[in-house]
Amino acid sequence: MDRFIQEIKNTADKVAKKSGELVELSKVKLHIGNTKSEINTNFKKLGEMLYFSQKEENDIEREKISEIIDKIDELYEKLADFKEIEACLTKKKLCPQCHKQNDTDSAFCSSCGYNFEDCE
Ligand SMILES: [Zn+2]
Repeated sequence: MDRFIQEIKNTADKVAKKSGELVELSKVKLHIGNTKSEINTNFKKLGEMLYFSQKEENDIEREKISEIIDKIDELYEKLADFKEIEACLTKKKLCPQCHKQNDTDSAFCSSCGYNFEDCE
């Protein structure tokens, strides 16, 4: 599980560096799906922990809980990164900032002024 997160991190870092490497849309979509299910897994873990601590009247292990919350936050950040990358790659000029669809030949978002050159 941790190795997978590391892999996601590495990919996001690579893309963030805009190293010019070709990023395949299908791979990005795969990462989005995986990140979403990982978020769900962590929410489920969190729920189970709360359930058992309540049911067995144990104290909630705060450290473990905040560990999971941190992980979820981290995953949400990754998800946002991937979605931005996805928007860049679909080339429909879907604005990564305000999500408005623009003409394919527009250089800036007509709604918020986002510079599409930033995608490249
Ligand atoms: Zn916009």
